[in-house]
Amino acid sequence: MYILIINSGSSSIKYQLFPRDSDQPVCSGLVERIGQDNSQVTHEIFRADVAQTLKLDQRVKDHETGMQLLAGLLTRKDIAVIADPAQIGTVGHRVVHGGETLTEPTIITADVKAKIKALYPLAPLHNPGHIKGIEVAEKLFPTATQIAVFDTAFHQTLPEKAFRYAIPDKFYREDGIRVYGFHGISHQYVAGAAMTWLKNPVAKLITIHLGNGCSMAAVSGGRCIDTSMGLTPLDGLVMGTRSGAIDPSVLLYLQQQKGYTAEQLTKLLNKQSGMLALTGHNDMRDISRLYHENDPAAKLAYELYTYRIKKFIGAYTAALNGLDALVFTAGVGENDALARELVCRDMEVFGIHIDIAKNQLREKGLRDLSAGGSSARVLVVPTNEELAIARVCRTLVAEGHPNLESS
Ligand code: ADP
Repeated sequence: MYILIINSGSSSIKYQLFPRDSDQPVCSGLVERIGQDNSQVTHEIFRADVAQTLKLDQRVKDHETGMQLLAGLLTRKDIAVIADPAQIGTVGHRVVHGGETLTEPTIITADVKAKIKALYPLAPLHNPGHIKGIEVAEKLFPTATQIAVFDTAFHQTLPEKAFRYAIPDKFYREDGIRVYGFHGISHQYVAGAAMTWLKNPVAKLITIHLGNGCSMAAVSGGRCIDTSMGLTPLDGLVMGTRSGAIDPSVLLYLQQQKGYTAEQLTKLLNKQSGMLALTGHNDMRDISRLYHENDPAAKLAYELYTYRIKKFIGAYTAALNGLDALVFTAGVGENDALARELVCRDMEVFGIHIDIAKNQLREKGLRDLSAGGSSARVLVVPTNEELAIARVCRTLVAEGHPNLESS
């Protein structure tokens, strides 16, 4: 039997298929730009006898079509990784927002779907795509158990002083306005790997997820005690196209003095800000190239990006009252030596010393970049949200939940 992991976003579906008892996927893929004319499907197969990547340029009009396509690829005669969709016993879904009620990996029932839908106002860019993915998966794999794993769940251990905003109580009580935090599946996965590597189950860690979206978490003994994203994934660090933290008065100014609407402000802060606004690019590979060509905008952008991270390291070291390791992860965190070097520069006060040569090496897997004398380790831990979800699904299956006998 197999576990299919689905990460269904607003315009894309990422997927991986794992044998029930293995961490090695048999295939993975991405359906991108759903609903646009230039949609594309990339499907990779990792079987010993067939290792190949397939690219299909074809219009994928909606999530249903995208899911049908991927289900078809799994069983397509020449490249089949399974013979029958019924071999998929479990479908694990990444869901960005679980609010305060969905705090554990959960078997998806009508009630769970209703709760995910009730959170649409808090996650308008994400939860509707997840529901689409879930509903199509239910149709395509009717014998499978559907499980949801939430990106907010890991942050539900935040103490109230860290998750409340200093605004009238009723906004929390009536509207659920509070810090939720995101990228939790990734923070939890890399923190777990770092604790195992450190052989320290009570380690004080700062996990730094730098992808298109960027966030940090302060983790003590495996429990998250603070995180940089807030009510939505807009707060905190400077990101590819998102501003991160900004004085709320900037929005009031733009609204009152420049006539911006709520919709325009949402677009401005989510899609037109961050590194894109500072440099004209949102891919760090382009910005890093410009930095090395002494482009002044790229220099400033890297400084701003990494200075914000440094300040969070200071804040979280205080919150943790110590620091055993910094953990870099995701596209930028795992690959961008320049960003890591600038973050770790002049941080001796926190016991952070990075080895510049080790930082430049392009190696796979968990890496220790600390220089001798560094009291805090500087680690790179590749994240793998799909594997983390698959493991969670496997644990639920192993625990013998009554609904999971067929898995
Ligand atoms: P997400 O999952 O949030 O979409 P990723 O974790 O895949 O994002 O990270 C995407 C980011 O990683 C992009 O900004 C990309 O430029 C950056 N990235 C990927 N590879 C490299 C690299 N070799 N050097 C620098 N940045 C990289």
